[in-house]
Amino acid sequence: MRYVTVLGATGSIGKSTLDVIRRHPDLFSVYGLVASTSIDAMIDSIREFKPKVVAMSSEKAAIEVLKRVKELQLPCEVLFGDDGVETLAGDGSADIVVGAIVGAAGLRPLIAAAKTGCIIALANKEALVMSGTIFFETAKKYGARVLPVDSEHSAIFQSLPFEVQENLGFCNLKSAHVDKILLTGSGGPFRDTPIKDLEFVDAKTAIAHPVWSMGPKISVDSATMMNKGLEFIEARYLFNADDGDIQVVIHPQSVIHSMVSYEDGAVMAQLGNPDMRTPIAVALGFPERISSGVNRLDFTKLSSLTFMEPDFSRYPCLKLAMQASKSGQSATTALNAANEVAVASFLESKIKFTDISCVVDTVLCSNTCKEPNSIDEVLSIDESARKRAIDYIGKLNG
Ligand code: NAD
Ligand code: MG
Repeated sequence: MRYVTVLGATGSIGKSTLDVIRRHPDLFSVYGLVASTSIDAMIDSIREFKPKVVAMSSEKAAIEVLKRVKELQLPCEVLFGDDGVETLAGDGSADIVVGAIVGAAGLRPLIAAAKTGCIIALANKEALVMSGTIFFETAKKYGARVLPVDSEHSAIFQSLPFEVQENLGFCNLKSAHVDKILLTGSGGPFRDTPIKDLEFVDAKTAIAHPVWSMGPKISVDSATMMNKGLEFIEARYLFNADDGDIQVVIHPQSVIHSMVSYEDGAVMAQLGNPDMRTPIAVALGFPERISSGVNRLDFTKLSSLTFMEPDFSRYPCLKLAMQASKSGQSATTALNAANEVAVASFLESKIKFTDISCVVDTVLCSNTCKEPNSIDEVLSIDESARKRAIDYIGKLNG
């Protein structure tokens, strides 16, 4: 039996994770659940999965969850606030910690989890974008193992040989005879929208992804292709790759989830229906394969699979992320922070869709922070970039 803690248990990835766990009562038991404000969803999961501990980052939500837990006489401890989340993530009782909090908020709990030497099933790409080097050094020092949940990175992971899979973060792609990692992306809902119309698209259309069903932030990131930019950076750290080792390819149908091309001309790809329960099951079950509830891919019903190069004038955020990746971890942290602020503003209809890349660009141009050597330094770069993003948005609207 493996004990699992799910950080971000009430979100899109969190719910899919619990669905995979639900199918395997003989393999997994839920130890801990973490969320921010979703009280009803948390109570439902406490009733069903009977975790020993839960934490709510919102203290107000934690008070309500505690009240309901007492009323229902559920034997579950409730921790409060960001400190409670970090305490639960780092308490060492879980064999697997699933990192599915959205954004920079996931970083500290994941570092706390890494220090327990557990398996980290990582969906929270922002944590690696901000601190890839420090994250993997911490994991190595404490004997933690990081397994990717992001579908592209899971596909790459599944297409790589065992010795690379065993050494994520420090592997040597050249000695595995890898020529290139081909990172695929659907191109989002605005792939065919005339570029001149992009400034008028609203949040509702932006979050209606044609293929994947996801949380609001990553849905907007998919529409700008910042998501692919963040994944480019994520792939660099996971697979210890250089920028030149990774090529972004648009593949609208999202049937191929990414590929690895080898020196001898062979290309290994992982295919499947676009359902996050597959990569989640790969990470939870590794090295075994376990069932996930995902429908089988029916090749006889597939339309044609198409591929194209990304157009940076349509997707300026992708270009900015690739440039930040070259600059280093200070730039990638600033990029991520500026993007989180910009996406939140766009979702509140405070800025236009096309302003997102302007906010990120402005914040990157004014980034004078040095390379971080600790998580505190990473978080201070994040804080400073958020302030500059908020200032710039204020000027846009002023
Ligand atoms: P979501 O918005 O649906 O869920 C976010 C979860 O995090 C919720 O449970 C929320 O309560 C919790 N949360 C938010 N802020 C928190 C905080 N400060 N402290 C504790 N918990 C907090 O997001 P999602 O789509 O499930 O994405 C989660 C992460 O997984 C993101 O980093 C995203 O990039 C990544 N990811 C998602 C998908 C997908 O298909 N949804 C695919 C690949 C990667
Ligand atoms: Mg992805």
